[in-house]
Amino acid sequence: MKTLIYTTCFVIASALFTKPVRAQNFDTVQVKTVKITDKIYMLQGEGGNVGVLTGNDGIVLIDDEFAPLSEKIKNALTAISDKPVRFIINTHYHFDHTDGNKIFGEQGAIIVAQDNVRRRLTTDQFLTAFNMKQDALSYSALPKITFTDSVTLHLNGETLKVIHLKNAHTDGDALIWFEESNVMHTGDVFVRYGLPVIDSEHGGSIDGMITGTENIMKIADANTKIIPGHGDLASEKDVADFKAMLQMIRNKIAGDIKKGKTFKQITEENLFTQYNAVFDRSAFILMVYDSLKK
Ligand SMILES: [Zn+2]
Repeated sequence: MKTLIYTTCFVIASALFTKPVRAQNFDTVQVKTVKITDKIYMLQGEGGNVGVLTGNDGIVLIDDEFAPLSEKIKNALTAISDKPVRFIINTHYHFDHTDGNKIFGEQGAIIVAQDNVRRRLTTDQFLTAFNMKQDALSYSALPKITFTDSVTLHLNGETLKVIHLKNAHTDGDALIWFEESNVMHTGDVFVRYGLPVIDSEHGGSIDGMITGTENIMKIADANTKIIPGHGDLASEKDVADFKAMLQMIRNKIAGDIKKGKTFKQITEENLFTQYNAVFDRSAFILMVYDSLKK
């Protein structure tokens, strides 16, 4: 069921515990352009949402999807701007957000990311829960500018505040706030497919996800247009609902751990079926459980 693969963060795939990861077929994928303001757009294909800022300084991309989709992304960009891609900001290291670095980096775009993103992209990464390996990227595909806590870019008449969200979905997440236009890209700290991925093996944690959503809401207001890591354009209210879900799950599992329940007992008693899930529910609980145990 390929749609399952495509809609999740990380080709979480059918892979989960049961089946091997299959090669994806991108031929039929369409890249959809969503206009947010006169100069800001969201592109939706099969990986993470791509944010686009256009203007005389050249195109700025937030994330760049899967490399095999880069021609389709370029076609979508040509329809909205005649400038080249000058900068890319990676929201985190997962390849459904960074694989396109191979193409755009090679063509001269300057890639910006949190320190840990570059560190992860420099070496092979293995995700045990998903039984999959993400290969190290070549030099041209790596971030050339990194930051620890935050960095600000001044491009196309917009102030882009890039702010690290610590130990949330991974150890290198960043939100990007387009200050004047009041648009935000949250990376996978906020997604709209239900139960999220918490990459606890690479620094992610449920508590960091909750703090991350709080930090998103500290900057956002009722008028902010929010590009989630995956899913349709959202508002602060959607982030609040997502945070409430995380908080409820965190409290339940932390309470069960305190009562001495094992992971097996916890999953036998509650799979949080009131929330949508695009991958194995017990895998999600394991990621929460792991991060609370640490
Ligand atoms: Zn991700």
